[in-house]
Formats: sequence, C-alpha cells, structure tokens
Amino acid sequence: MSDRPQAFDTLQIHGGAAPDPATGARQVPIYQSTAFVFQDADHAARLFNLQEVGYIYSRLTNPTVAALAERITHLEGGAGGICCSSGHAAQIMAFFPLMMPGCNIVASTRLYGGTYTQLTQTIKRFGWSAKLVDFDDLDAVKAAIDDDTRAIFCESIANPGGYITDLDAIAKIADDAGIPLIVDNTSASPYLCKPIDHGATLVVHSTTKYLTGNGTVTGGAVIDSGKFDWSANDKFPSLSQPEPAYHGLTFHEVLGPMAFTFHSIAVGLRDLGMTMNPQGAHYTLMGIETLSLRMQKHVENAVKVAKWLEADDRIESVTYAGLESSPYFDRVARICPNGAGALFTFAIKGGYDNCVKLINSVELFSHVANLGDARSLIIHSASTTHRQLTDEQRQAAGALPNVVRVSIGIEDADDIIADLDQALTKALA
Ligand SMILES: *Cc1c(COP(=O)(O)O)cnc(C)c1O
Repeated sequence: MSDRPQAFDTLQIHGGAAPDPATGARQVPIYQSTAFVFQDADHAARLFNLQEVGYIYSRLTNPTVAALAERITHLEGGAGGICCSSGHAAQIMAFFPLMMPGCNIVASTRLYGGTYTQLTQTIKRFGWSAKLVDFDDLDAVKAAIDDDTRAIFCESIANPGGYITDLDAIAKIADDAGIPLIVDNTSASPYLCKPIDHGATLVVHSTTKYLTGNGTVTGGAVIDSGKFDWSANDKFPSLSQPEPAYHGLTFHEVLGPMAFTFHSIAVGLRDLGMTMNPQGAHYTLMGIETLSLRMQKHVENAVKVAKWLEADDRIESVTYAGLESSPYFDRVARICPNGAGALFTFAIKGGYDNCVKLINSVELFSHVANLGDARSLIIHSASTTHRQLTDEQRQAAGALPNVVRVSIGIEDADDIIADLDQALTKALA
C-alpha cells in the first residue's frame, strides 16, 4: 500500500476493517460471541497483563466493536478510541479516568438537555460537580477553573440552537490550565468538525445520531487524541501513577499515547460495563460508510430550509449558524469548514401555543426526541428535552418556549419546506 494518507471518504468505508482473516468475509462480520478462546495459559496471561492486544471477553473488547472504534478514531484523527452503549455512557467513560470525588468539570451552558441533567444532577452522586458558564465569555471560563477542575466540556455545534463553540480559544484555556478539553462532536460529526485539530484532547460521540444516521441503535464513542501529557502534573493519578484498580500498572508510563484508551478498556469498561454490543456496532458500521454523503445533503437541505424560514413572515427568528445573520456565521468556516450541520431552532409568531399546533400539524416531519436521522425530525424542546430545566437554564441553552428544534433530514428539500409551510398555515390560522 502507498504511504499516502487515506482521505475521509475512503476511511469511512475501510478504516478499522480488513477482509476477515478466517473466512475472507469482505464486510466486518458480527462477532456475536461473549468470550474468545485463549491459545494457552501463557497467552491468557499476556492478554490480561496488556502485554499483547487481543480479545478476552466482550464486556471489554469485541472484534466488531473494535472495528467501529478504530474507524471513528481514524475519522477524528485520534490515537485510540472505545465504543460504549450510548452517548451518555461515552461522557461518563470520558470523565471516569480523570475524576475523583471532589473534582469538577467546567462546562458550557449550551448543552444537549440530557447532558445538562447528567452534569448538574446525576454526577453529584459520584462526588463530582460541574460549573456551567457561557463559553463565549472566555474570562468566565478561565475564572471557573480551580485546583479541582479536571476537564473542560463543550459541544462543537451545540444542541439545540446551532451555536458553534470557538474550540481553539477554549483549547488554549484548557492547555494553560493543564487540563484536557473534551468535545461532544455529535451534532457536527467528524465530517463537519475535527475537534482534535482545534486542540481537543478527547472527543465524545453519541453514535446514535449522524454516525449511524438512520435511527436504529444507540451507541457512543470516546476518542483520545493521544497528545495530552497526563504526567505533567499530579492531577490525573489514574493515568500517571500506579493504578490500584489494575494491579498497580502505571498506564501513561507503559502505554504512552494509548494510556487513556487502555485505561478505558481495562478499568472503565471492565468495571462500569457500559459496553456496545456487536449487533449495534454492525448497524453503525453500515451507517458510517455513507457519512460524508449524508452530511453534505443534510447541510445542503438545512441551508435551504433555514433560508426559506428566515424569509417567511410567520417566523420570528432562525438560529442556524449557516445563515449570514447568525452571530456564529464567521466561526463556521474556521471550526466547521464543511458546513454548520442540520440542527437548529426557529421561533414562530404566537409563542408556545402555536409551537404545539405546528408540532401537531407536521406530516413528513417526525415528532421525536432524536436527531441526526435520515428523516426530518421536529421537537418543542421547552416542553420535552429541556423540560427538567429552570426558565433561566432554558434561556441559556436556547430552548425558549416559542422555539421548535428541527433536525433536517436528507429527503427532498422542497418536500421538507412544503411540510413546514402547510403546518405553519395550520398553526397560525
Ligand atoms: C443524543 C445526544 C447525547 C446522548 O446520546 P445518547 O446516545 O442518546 O445517550 C449527547 N450529546 C448530544 C449532543 C446528543 O445529541
């Protein structure tokens, strides 16, 4: 093979996969097996000591799941990665090697609704906490970091408002503080945004969304850049010091850029068990083969629909960052050079009641909590995904009562527009 680095369109099909050595099967087989036979006692010991890479038990690793993890790692430009059972599992798996009771995460106020709750409520049970600040206010981000901060967390394209984070600026702050930047790249996908190129240490995904692309399975991934020096300070003892949960192995010293990935497998997946199953990995491997084609069409349609909405006098505002009227339009070319995604909100005249009527009147759009499906999806965030939040939190997150969130699919753009047109007519009648 030539030394030429393969391009995205090639890696999304070939990354992590080779013809099956046993059968020649061209597609990645679904290795529906819980356990893998050791050659002998010595082989088993080498695998358990991480002296040799291989398969032991599918809670830790499985060949189908590993092919997917490797493929996403290629697409994100990382050193290593793992898959897990959902996007929320991926977030916990990303925090787990970094955090101890008493530690905190500095996170953006603009987050997926479930992430908001995970960070502000659920992680308290582990003795962790999160400080949510406006990531456009760089001084506020800096000021929020204290001696117990172990990570900065944000979304590249933030749900639900189509907000784009200035990843370079945030990565610089993380760097200066000696802590990793974790970026949830779900709404962008690696085709639109490569957080590692902008200085992110870890990238998390809900593979449930664009990576699978057809709304079939839940899954998650954590990709490590391999560039963070876990031993530069004493903040990350699980990686830089002997790990008591893995017979005193010093992961960073022994595994270098693969320290985080191996810790996530050998301790995280082993003990937390948030494992992706091979059948789920299969669906995502199928979906990911067409990622770039789908994302191009998602973006093309989103631009058309957003422009149509913006010009319609029944609409008060549209948040799509791909519109010149967006305050984030300038960031698109730098952070998301292939487009601003297909997720945005719009406000309609008549407020909450008319939003509910609109949702009840759509025909082509599906009223669901999902996003990143081939189908166009719609939801009223304030009464659903962001329901648990206070009014102030909803305001900060961009989930106001008079806005609906759309995830524009890859159907014909004129059909999508026609459906919104008829539903708006009914809503405002
Ligand atoms: C859906 C989503 C999640 C959670 O992922 P699940 O697979 O549903 O657990 C996290 N972040 C973002 C941006 C999402 O869209």
